[in-house]
Amino acid sequence: MKLYSTNNKDLRVSFKEAVFNSMPQDKGLYMPVEIPQLDAEFIANIEKYSLQEIAFKVASTLLKDEIPTEDLKALIDDAINFEAPAVKLDDKTFVLELFHGPSLAFKDFGARFMSRIMAYFLKDGEQLLDVLVATSGDTGGAVALGFLGVPNTRVTILYPEGKVSPIQELQLTTNGQNIRAIEVKGTFDDCQALVKQAFADDELNAKFRLTSANSINISRLIPQTFYYFNTYAQLKKQGLNNVVFSVPSGNFGNIGAGLLAYKLGLPVKQFIAATNINDTVPRFLESGIYETKPSTQTYSNAMDVGAPSNWVRIMNLFGDDVESLKKVVTSYRFNDEETLVGIKEIDSRFNYVACPHTAIAYLAIEKFRTENPKDDSAAVFLSTAHACKFPDIFPVDIASKIEIPEQVTALESLPQHADNLGVDFEGFKSYLLNKA
Ligand SMILES: *Cc1c(COP(=O)(O)O)cnc(C)c1O
Repeated sequence: MKLYSTNNKDLRVSFKEAVFNSMPQDKGLYMPVEIPQLDAEFIANIEKYSLQEIAFKVASTLLKDEIPTEDLKALIDDAINFEAPAVKLDDKTFVLELFHGPSLAFKDFGARFMSRIMAYFLKDGEQLLDVLVATSGDTGGAVALGFLGVPNTRVTILYPEGKVSPIQELQLTTNGQNIRAIEVKGTFDDCQALVKQAFADDELNAKFRLTSANSINISRLIPQTFYYFNTYAQLKKQGLNNVVFSVPSGNFGNIGAGLLAYKLGLPVKQFIAATNINDTVPRFLESGIYETKPSTQTYSNAMDVGAPSNWVRIMNLFGDDVESLKKVVTSYRFNDEETLVGIKEIDSRFNYVACPHTAIAYLAIEKFRTENPKDDSAAVFLSTAHACKFPDIFPVDIASKIEIPEQVTALESLPQHADNLGVDFEGFKSYLLNKA
């Protein structure tokens, strides 16, 4: 698989190079030059395969020239070691639970696959890969747990003191091994500034092999296609062949992966991009004007993105033709008040507790159905995180129904450790240089 940059369509890099660079020098995003088709025979029989088998088939269609088959198979079985069930709520409504991985969010798919791809390409004896991440909560947990125990890698996470939830803090501070957590006396922006300065520092770059492992890495996108195929398989098994996916969207990586799956040959009737009031994309699809905005804080804070970084990838998938994109993608926005109504409605209608991001995807599916009364497709809304990660949002009667998964209870008995630093770069730099 060769990749180009969305800012330079003549550029050609290998998959390995794209993985380690994360982003081209020209600040575009890497995209595959060619998108192969999955064989029709496989799609016609997809219900016979497991998630891991489907993942292997999809990944090998894309990466067969990059990683030998046996190695890729082992890598996938290690990375995708949890399920993604499409839970039936009624005859035509399903919630796709993507939170059964270690950090209880769908980002585990991307983070676990990326970490193993990186470790695979770091042959024995190559310099240790140092991953630096600033987090406001969720991404840090997925990256930390994704790289935990992965040979030849080390992760340093910076998080703002007092600003992550108790469960998030447990996920950041109980790992040990190759993961270290730094609690910064400052804000998320301070954490991010420290990481950015580290990447620009000559002395640190001379001594360490630094990477951000960030969310626009192409190796995070690929594994997110797996569960779209797997959901189609689960529905097909039940005799349902037409499917609409509703995806709670922030940086548009998740729905971007869905659209990549579609271009790989997955039959999908419609994708719905569901956003909160950070609505750059729904506004664009309504008005034709793409105008980014600073982000506004909402209940669905993992979607508080005013300039969705993966949108350019999606435009590229459709040859920058908005009209053909609009045939497949619908977009709706919902505010916090509506999000709460959605949470209550899912609870009363299905006795199901959905996180605020998931609730927005649900609202979008319902709106789509109202606007398209003749469409009888099965509706799947993606649940991107477990409700227990957002304890403060729910009314008490609903909060009391949330069960804490064993991934979390297992952490509660472990010792927590974080180093403490201020916001000055010299302190962070000397920490990196001296605390080896
Ligand atoms: C990251 C995240 C999203 C948004 O996903 P994108 O790929 O950025 O669109 C939605 N929900 C949760 C819980 C997330 O962590």
